[in-house]
Amino acid sequence: MYDYDLLVVGSANADLVIGVERRPGPGETVLGSDLAVHPGGKGANQAVAAARLGARAALLARVGDDGYGRLLLDSQRAAGVDTVGMLVGGAPTGVALITVDPSGDNSIVVSPGANARLTPQDVRAAASLFQASRVVSAQLEIPLETVVETVRSLAFDSRFVLNPSPAGPLPAEVLAACDPLIVNEHEARFLLGDSAGPAPEDWARALLLRGPRSVVITLGAAGALVAEGSTTSSVRVESPRVDAVDTTGAGDAFTAALAWRLSLRESLAQAAAFAARVGAAAVTRQGAQDSFPTADEVFAR
Ligand code: ATP
Repeated sequence: MYDYDLLVVGSANADLVIGVERRPGPGETVLGSDLAVHPGGKGANQAVAAARLGARAALLARVGDDGYGRLLLDSQRAAGVDTVGMLVGGAPTGVALITVDPSGDNSIVVSPGANARLTPQDVRAAASLFQASRVVSAQLEIPLETVVETVRSLAFDSRFVLNPSPAGPLPAEVLAACDPLIVNEHEARFLLGDSAGPAPEDWARALLLRGPRSVVITLGAAGALVAEGSTTSSVRVESPRVDAVDTTGAGDAFTAALAWRLSLRESLAQAAAFAARVGAAAVTRQGAQDSFPTADEVFAR
């Protein structure tokens, strides 16, 4: 019996957003809108998305001993995430400085801060959380050695879900643990390099050969593709048609939803179909964490 459906091991950032008429060039200063501060980071987003759906979720992350760190702790608690694994101190809270122009194009500078100090030792110290979690998910906004230790810390029959974002090289040990590896087109192409074929079905086949037990490729409005084990065929999962307002956080909502449904022992294709509905719901609202739906909202659509 597990206490948690999902343990997310990942980043927690404060997103500092300023709207501008034009993004500044080198040496230039421009005036912008009032500052908006939002809790973000892929780890924090996934934990909130899962909890909002009704999952028993916990977050293993590190924030600074500062106001942004408190914002992140508060927003996790408000969403119902167990914050026993949230560590405080060692560096300032990670921050993303975001300028957005009227066409929606943005420029982003990230200071990883405390995220870069989430260490393998922190993972080992959270052994009891790992033992209590049916599914564990991670992303790449924390040190790679911490992701490696995460894989080594899994309970014997728990399941590991990885969204390798931002795209980076993955050791064979991490790839072999993924069930599934969840990538978008950009991440698939990064991992496959020149060997990427023309179609998502080709990417899925080629990625499976790298060692993950299963692969999910997210395709924006076109939904997702699921491929498992030694099969050479993949299954397309449709996404509902929606009027997209803001796609920020869609990938995090999708991953969290899929991980939660896997914890309920659904098949990968069933879990991906539900996750596609959650991703679609998330793009109909502004923001990342603010846009994540409840399960009732997903089933009501
Ligand atoms: P992001 O980095 O913007 O968070 P991503 O590139 O990791 O996202 P996407 O493939 O864009 O991931 O989106 C994840 C899922 O969300 C898709 O598989 C799909 O189910 C849903 N989704 C995203 N955009 C749309 C859209 N415009 N209409 C319907 N569903 C969408």
